[in-house]
Amino acid sequence: MADDCLFCRIARQEIPVQLIHESDDCVAFRDIKPQAPVHVLVVPREHIASLNDARDPGLIGRLSLVAAEIAEREGIATTGYRTVMNTNADAGQTVFHVHLHLLGGRSMAWPPG
Ligand code: 5GP
Ligand code: ZN
Repeated sequence: MADDCLFCRIARQEIPVQLIHESDDCVAFRDIKPQAPVHVLVVPREHIASLNDARDPGLIGRLSLVAAEIAEREGIATTGYRTVMNTNADAGQTVFHVHLHLLGGRSMAWPPG
């Protein structure tokens, strides 16, 4: 837990953001600046700065399965979606509390920019 971390504060509901998923170890909510019709962030409750600092394979795996559940619920499981975890500067990470982006609802280019 980090007092000054935005995503810790959202996970603790100190900042009122509507959660679309809540479980023992993670929460999910819509990105404030969506890059696709569906853009959800799946965030562990535990403060982990980036994937470089993650140690629990179960937790990291569960973030992906939660994203898949939300994709199903949002109606994009069949059409397709992308899950992305940006790590550090070259990937454009801006919030240093690990999170999985779930993006879908439009077709996407590859390779990513
Ligand atoms: P990153 O760039 O670290 O991979 O992703 C951080 C994401 O968090 C960005 O897509 C950004 O729009 C989103 N974000 C930043 N601040 C807030 C906020 O206060 N609320 C929500 N819902 N999303 C946020
Ligand atoms: Zn945090």
